[in-house]
Amino acid sequence: MSAWSVPDDPEEFRAVLGLWLEQNAPRSLWNTVSTPFQGHWGGTRTPFPSDDHRLWYERCLPLGLTAPSWPEKYGAAGLSTAHARVWAQELQSRELPLPLVGFGLVMIGPILLSEGSEELKDEHLPKIVQGHIRWCQGYSEPGAGSDLAALRTRAERDGDHFVVSGQKVWTSHAERADWIFCLVRTSTEGRKQAGISFLLIDMTSPGITVQPIQLISGASPFCEVFFEDVRVPVANVVGDIDNGWRVAKALLQHERTVVGESIAAGGARPPELNDYTLRQHALELIGLGPDGRLDDAGIRDEIIASEMDMAVMKLAVRQANERLKAGAHPGSVSSVLKLAGTELNQRRWELAGRIGGLDATGWDGPEFIPRDKALSRHLLRSRGNTIEGGTSEVQKNIVATAILKLPKGP
Ligand SMILES: Cc1cc2nc3c(=O)[nH]c(=O)nc-3n(C[C@H](O)[C@H](O)[C@H](O)COP(=O)(O)OP(=O)(O)OC[C@H]3O[C@@H](n4cnc5c(N)ncnc54)[C@H](O)[C@@H]3O)c2cc1C
Repeated sequence: MSAWSVPDDPEEFRAVLGLWLEQNAPRSLWNTVSTPFQGHWGGTRTPFPSDDHRLWYERCLPLGLTAPSWPEKYGAAGLSTAHARVWAQELQSRELPLPLVGFGLVMIGPILLSEGSEELKDEHLPKIVQGHIRWCQGYSEPGAGSDLAALRTRAERDGDHFVVSGQKVWTSHAERADWIFCLVRTSTEGRKQAGISFLLIDMTSPGITVQPIQLISGASPFCEVFFEDVRVPVANVVGDIDNGWRVAKALLQHERTVVGESIAAGGARPPELNDYTLRQHALELIGLGPDGRLDDAGIRDEIIASEMDMAVMKLAVRQANERLKAGAHPGSVSSVLKLAGTELNQRRWELAGRIGGLDATGWDGPEFIPRDKALSRHLLRSRGNTIEGGTSEVQKNIVATAILKLPKGP
């Protein structure tokens, strides 16, 4: 594989990149997905989805393209914001996966870059760029979901360490994670938001137990994580002790923006739905009427509305990205993107379910084709979009108070 010299002009870079992708991106990955949550997740416990995912990662890594805009000293590409945008656009237009995905790159990484100590940056950022560790998110607890500041996992100071005890819940893929970024209570003085710290914890630390939660579908994407007297260096606090709430909210802004971006890029979906379009599905099952148009005016209108919503979503994400200053946190607009994107995504897959009718309820057995089995599962998964990262109601509350400046409710 040949390296390139990056031209200063982003449009010249686009041309260079186009050629490079032709020569280096494995064909089997074209026209699949290009979202920050689907591809190779890295870490010590997650295999590559395929040999071509490995090849793609191995070709991008030496150029730092797993983290295009991060500084070169961490092994990243150090591209300007404009160049990094070209990289993202060119992958998206070909529906090529990112070479590496995960919470390290889109959630804890940006937080470490802006809020982490030099020691934490030096320790973790190169491993994130290389995909050597996989991260999970330890925010929610029983009794602390939307009311996140009610969290009770305690971290008591003992010299240079904290001793952590408590429980997290709904921790996505904790069983595959090497590290967890965690909100812990370091003080019970004052407002509940005041005594929270943001702590990085090695998942192999003695005293951590991970218990997968079995869902009705049979899958276990979530875990409970129990901490029993887990010793964690005080140096692993990001930001100031007792002042982690600000860091926690900034991370959520990154998470919510990325969810919006992911949906604008077509959304993560199983391989069986790679080529799926509402139009094609409707044409196949409903067919054309005598006027040469889809023979169901209601579904026709809904498909067009969905496509228009998607086009608006893409523009909204593009505009939000263009306004975002390099290195800044996304701010409350992230709630608009998360709310609009996840509600749109849910409506889109519900419409797919209505078009599919009984077939889209297929779960198992030879009478259903793989696409329909994938569709029914994906339709159910889209319900979770409007809950993870803060529910739609929580996003509406943020939009109402932080953007529209409406008075807070009782
Ligand atoms: C797919 C998925 C992945 C997840 N992954 C993670 C993860 O990796 N790490 C992690 O920490 N958590 C994770 N979660 C948990 C998620 O963050 C919480 O489920 C979410 O914040 C809601 O909390 P809750 O489930 O306790 O519901 P509750 O907070 O009990 O809410 C129940 C209902 O009440 C509504 N409600 C609550 N408060 C208000 C209010 N003030 N105004 C209006 N309505 C309100 C909510 O909108 C919701 O409809 C995940 C969840 C899902 C679905």
